[in-house]
Amino acid sequence: MSKQVLLLNQHDLPLNVLKMKKAFNLIYKEKAEMVKEIPNSEFYHNGQRFSYPSVIRMKYFVNITKKQSLGDCYTKLNVWKRDKGKCQYCGKKMSSNKFTVDHVKPKMLGGKTKWDNIVTACFRCNNLKDSKPLDANGKVTVKDENGKNRTISLRRKPITPDQAETIEQSIIHRFKTLEKVLNKEWMSFISPKKSPKK
Ligand SMILES: [Zn+2]
Repeated sequence: MSKQVLLLNQHDLPLNVLKMKKAFNLIYKEKAEMVKEIPNSEFYHNGQRFSYPSVIRMKYFVNITKKQSLGDCYTKLNVWKRDKGKCQYCGKKMSSNKFTVDHVKPKMLGGKTKWDNIVTACFRCNNLKDSKPLDANGKVTVKDENGKNRTISLRRKPITPDQAETIEQSIIHRFKTLEKVLNKEWMSFISPKKSPKK
């Protein structure tokens, strides 16, 4: 039996995955309600019938965008997601476990680790660019491995993504991944098409 419980927000978007004990606690304190039970999981306690939950829903709306500041959702992986996994210099697609992030304005020149100064980069471009700044046109000419000149240019100016969208996407992505390994019953609850349009 899965010991994980999917917690939905009041408007039915996935909010978290909880341990069974925590899920029971939320139901017991009447903060959450049962949405889906684990089939054939009834048990009796003090003469009362209970079932193990598979999915529960908050009775009130939890505002995740207020709870998490932008600083919290700025992660290397979220930069990769914003850039759709592509090196922002050469366009090469990279998997989420094999990429680097590059400070457009190098750290040693005062570049900050912020959304608008960080881009996804492949190892080669990151190495070639090293700690050189880009010119006014967003370009820098470097020597490649063979000593030839190569111009590296930034494909797009990095921007701060919509905060709510990033959190929501990352939650949906997380649950989709989790669902694959854990619980097929969750699929209908975590499908992005269920998301209310903003
Ligand atoms: Zn590259």
